[in-house]
Amino acid sequence: MLLGPPGSGKGTQAARITSRPVWLHLSTGGLFRDHLRRRTELGALARGYIDRGELVPDRVTVDIVRQCLRDVPRETRVLFDGFPRTRAQAVALDALLAELGRKLSSVVQLDVPREVLLARIAGRATCARCQTVYNITTQPPKVPGVCDRCGGEVAVRSDEAPEVVAHRLDVYERDTAPLAEYYRERGMLVRVDGNGSPEAVASRVAAAVR
Ligand code: AMP
Repeated sequence: MLLGPPGSGKGTQAARITSRPVWLHLSTGGLFRDHLRRRTELGALARGYIDRGELVPDRVTVDIVRQCLRDVPRETRVLFDGFPRTRAQAVALDALLAELGRKLSSVVQLDVPREVLLARIAGRATCARCQTVYNITTQPPKVPGVCDRCGGEVAVRSDEAPEVVAHRLDVYERDTAPLAEYYRERGMLVRVDGNGSPEAVASRVAAAVR
């Protein structure tokens, strides 16, 4: 599980880790964005919360994770990115994993100072199809607006406007940051300095979980 505020690099690190077999990248934000794009009922429900930088209600979020985990073969390792985000979600995940006879192996918290988070998100653009994250100044796609990996449309997410981002960081501090204590008490938490290049952070993550 990757824990960390918006912009801490969870998505980037998750994509690197899960590019190896046999991993599933379970990003609740990605699942919600997929519903938005497909204009489902769930997408319509989630949109207001996402656009305001609020959390989608726990019941809805846990349901979507439950559905996703139900079909995952046992040999597949799951990387949680952006879930859980509240204590209630963490408790629900414990119950869900117990039901499935599976266990969490490690929880990695990416530590990044707030000013670095704001600067990173300021230049961020995301592929609407495969969720690959780019940075317009430091890591743009080869063809502007087109994803290198899948040819999808690369654009600024509606919830990455500066005022929404500031609110998302506050929501993180209030609702999600306390989860570090939840997992620390259970002896699962490893903290990693998330400041630096994706490669540098990836080697720290690898060393920490080893
Ligand atoms: P992310 O891509 O992880 O930054 O998520 C984008 C947005 O989706 C968040 O700002 C929330 O509105 C919503 N979201 C994603 N994951 C969760 C979650 N675990 N609980 C509630 N809302 C979530």
